[in-house]
Amino acid sequence: MPWDIYGHDWAVSLLQSHIAGARVRHAYLFTGPDGVGKRTLALRFAQALECQSPPSAGEVCGRCRACRQVPGQAFADLHVVESGEAGGTVKVEQVRGLHRHLSLSPLEGRRRIALLLRFHEATPGAANALLKTLEEPPASVVLLVTARSAEALLPTVVSRCEVVPLRPLAQAELSDMLAARGLSPEDSRLIAGLAGGSPGKALRMMADRGLLERRAELVKDLSRVLRAGRAERFALAEALAKDRAAAVLALETWQSLLRDVLLTSSGSQVERINMDQREEVERLAEARATETWAEAVEAVERTLTAIQSNANLRLALEVLSLDLPRLN
Ligand SMILES: [Zn+2]
Repeated sequence: MPWDIYGHDWAVSLLQSHIAGARVRHAYLFTGPDGVGKRTLALRFAQALECQSPPSAGEVCGRCRACRQVPGQAFADLHVVESGEAGGTVKVEQVRGLHRHLSLSPLEGRRRIALLLRFHEATPGAANALLKTLEEPPASVVLLVTARSAEALLPTVVSRCEVVPLRPLAQAELSDMLAARGLSPEDSRLIAGLAGGSPGKALRMMADRGLLERRAELVKDLSRVLRAGRAERFALAEALAKDRAAAVLALETWQSLLRDVLLTSSGSQVERINMDQREEVERLAEARATETWAEAVEAVERTLTAIQSNANLRLALEVLSLDLPRLN
């Protein structure tokens, strides 16, 4: 059974060659932006390390206990350490607790595997505790660490790991991946553009069938707001302010559309994301100067940053509604 990992072929060959050549290291560090597939790849590697009847070295059978339990992080010899939620902290007690587990012999697998997720969220104490484990790794233990970047970790931790840097996928690669999973060519291109190189995000968007319809509504909202006066703008800001997640989706949608308008207005050859909105994008691009659209993109970006750092949602949206250009 193939690993079924998209866009990181070289990383898959590297990891498979380590298993096939019996050169598995004590520690691996997977780096890259959120959603690029670090955890998915680390879990598949763990599965291959533990698979009880691999068809050939480095492959997975897909049927044994390890193959069934590792992907859901439920295998007895797989220990996962992570902060309570993204944005939290990994604490020193968690890493110490892990160290105790790792010093015992495996329960049913060949080795014990530790998966330390989002380790850029580790406290200094937790980072130092991991360093201790890395300096004296217990036998038959493999540590898999994920982080946004190697620079976010202690250099002494990084130097003890095999670093596997993952890059965002090109839009065309993502689009092919979605089409191979049965999505129409138009929707594949659109979602690939919106996902910004993240296979995880693209697959979530594909699974959420209502998303493309919600997005189409949000595009209409932007078209309306650009042609509306103050009162209508404030009414829309107020409606959006009721739900932070919905407001973020609206702003991300507007940002990608306004970027396309800016690219069109400036005559750029860079590929557009919202191919289904070509006519509206061209209408807007012709209606105002390039500089106006550059300011509009900046205004939306500023608002997104403010909202993500917990600014007053309604106030931020009201300010934005006045900053957007007015067309008639
Ligand atoms: Zn298996």
